[in-house]
Formats: sequence, structure tokens, C-alpha cells
Amino acid sequence: MPSALDPELRRALAARIRYYNELGIYDFYRRPLSDCAGAFASAIAVDDPEADISQPTLETGEEMSPRKAAAVAPPVAEENIFDAIAPKPEQSVGDPVQALKIIREDLGDCTRCALHKQGRKQIVFGVGNPTAELMFVGEGPGADEDEKGEPFVGRAGQLLNNMIKAMGIEREQVYIANIVKCRPPGNRQPERDECATCSPFLMRQIAVVKPKVLVALGATAAKTLLAMSASMMQLRGRFYDFKPAGVRSNDPNWDGCKLAVTYHPAFLLRDPRQKGEAWKDLQMVMKELGMKAPAKSTE
Ligand code: SF4
Repeated sequence: MPSALDPELRRALAARIRYYNELGIYDFYRRPLSDCAGAFASAIAVDDPEADISQPTLETGEEMSPRKAAAVAPPVAEENIFDAIAPKPEQSVGDPVQALKIIREDLGDCTRCALHKQGRKQIVFGVGNPTAELMFVGEGPGADEDEKGEPFVGRAGQLLNNMIKAMGIEREQVYIANIVKCRPPGNRQPERDECATCSPFLMRQIAVVKPKVLVALGATAAKTLLAMSASMMQLRGRFYDFKPAGVRSNDPNWDGCKLAVTYHPAFLLRDPRQKGEAWKDLQMVMKELGMKAPAKSTE
């Protein structure tokens, strides 16, 4: 039914619904489409005289201040706007292992974005403790990950393991996933539309794991999760309040988490001088989680 809507209006409606989600409002009454489109359009106009529904709310490429951008909802793919707010099947399941399995089954042999036909061997879903307090999100699988079906198992994965160890914990204690679940050819950066298409599944994983702190590894992860365009220098060094977009928490005790940004381990392999900066980011995370800082860094 919503596919009959004008694409611009659809984006404006999706953005408005996400805005209400951010405020904790999820329940909407649906009316027949003939009433609905006009009613929503006029509601937007009445609610916010400055709202320009002809303008997509997606990242436009201009840099936004972190404070402003952190309140902006993540990109919206061409999706059924009502799917974005409908309860997800895993939300009625108490066991997080089972809930993650439901999300994986929902993903299926996914062909939702172009990456499914660009040489992927398998979908790399995510790995780790389904009730982890700490979750890492990278960009996408590389060759090793594509081969093994697990995120961060190559050289960058080894460095991530060392970073986790330096924090005084083991890889098995955290949950690790990526923005896109299929390997981009030639290890290119995933396109924005690929990130927007795949990330709703990640949002659902985050809502199941319910971490206390989410660490975005690299600019692609940070920009997708925060829906903002800024340099790593601007993004790092602070926490953002984060709620997985389009997913309603089924846990009254979990209403989102802190998000920190640090360098992707693959970048640190290319420029080891930045390891000290990454360690500062991880120390900030450890402090937030009440973890005691070990004496050694990741060097
Ligand atoms: S990257 Fe994500 S959305 Fe694209 S085909 Fe793979 S699983 Fe599907």
C-alpha cells in the first residue's frame, strides 16, 4: 500500500515517524491511504512550518556538528515506512540466541542490495556474546571473513582481538558485526544505499544484544550509525546517545546505549602511529563500563 506514495513524501513520512520513535512514540493509527497521505502531509506542514517535505532527510554530504547530527535519524532506504515501526518477530522472544536466529532467518539468502551479486561467498552475520555489554561494529567483511563467515578474522581481526585483550577481556565476551553483511568487491567501501539497505538488520541485532557501549570502528560505521558526515577527528573523543533506528526495545531497562567512535583496525594496520589514539578511545569506553585499565596498550 505505501508504495503508492510519492517517493519524496514517503521519505518525509519515514523521517517524521523515526523522529517520533526517537521521542519514544511508536503507536500510530492507520487510516485508508486516500485519507492518510493528505493527512500526514498537512500534519507535517502544521507541526513544523519550516519542514520542507520536498527535501530528503538523508545525509547530504555536508558536515554537520556532532551535537546536531547525533539527533538525526539514520538513512532510510526505500522501505515500507510502516515496517520501520512494526514490532519485529524477535521482539516477542526472550532468549537472545533465539532472537538473533530469527533475524538471521529473516535475512535469508539476502538479495536486497547489489552486494549479493558481486562475488560474496556467504553472508557474514555477526559473532559473539548475545548479551554482551560491549559491541563492535565494523564496515563490512573482507576476503577472510567472506571465506569463514565470521567478522574480523583476518589481520584486522587479529588486531581487534589484541585491542579487546588489551582492555582486559576476551573476544568471546563482546559481540561483533558489520554495517553490511556481504563482502564489497575488491574490499571497496560499501555504497551508501548498500549501508542503508543492510543496516536495519544490524539495528535489530543491536536491539537484541542490548549493549551498554557500542564502538563504531571507522568512518563508514560511525557515519551510518550516527547518520552524519564528519571527519574521524570530529567524531572521536566523545560518547553519543544511541538508539537503534526503527526498532522498539522490548526491554523496559534498555532504551539505547552509548556509542563511541574509533579507528578501524585495518586503518591502524596501515598507520600504526594512530594506535595510541585508538587506545585513548578504548580507555574512554573502559571507564564508561567500569573496567579497570590494564597497564599495557595495544602497541
Ligand atoms: S549486504 Fe546486506 S542487504 Fe546487501 S545482500 Fe548482503 S545481507 Fe543483503
